[in-house]
Amino acid sequence: MEWLKTHRGDVLLIAALLVLAGALALFLRLGRHSGGYVSVSVRGEVVAELPLDQDASLPIETEGGHNLLIVAGGAARMESADCPDLLCVKMGPVRWAGESIVCLPHGVVVTVEDGPDGGFDAASR
Ligand SMILES: [Zn+2]
Repeated sequence: MEWLKTHRGDVLLIAALLVLAGALALFLRLGRHSGGYVSVSVRGEVVAELPLDQDASLPIETEGGHNLLIVAGGAARMESADCPDLLCVKMGPVRWAGESIVCLPHGVVVTVEDGPDGGFDAASR
């Protein structure tokens, strides 16, 4: 026990560093998550949720017009729209959690959300 007494501080320090490193690694892993799905909302109301690992096309009808969302190769993009500015189409593909495509004229927001171990449960409640 003598060793532990004299090295107690070091042991605690190493343990703290290990915990910190583990937390950091976990944080980085989650932070770099490619996003589990895209949440599609029209004027603040979620109308669809599409997993990013399944290719799909989703026509979005709004009062202002329509948009066509494409999910392919783990990324989502606005393929076409009949809004006047076409900014949503020009935005290009999104794939990382937190990224979004916004079509202001139509009130359409497409946001990449974390996977099932992220905010999916919280978002679906
Ligand atoms: Zn648009």
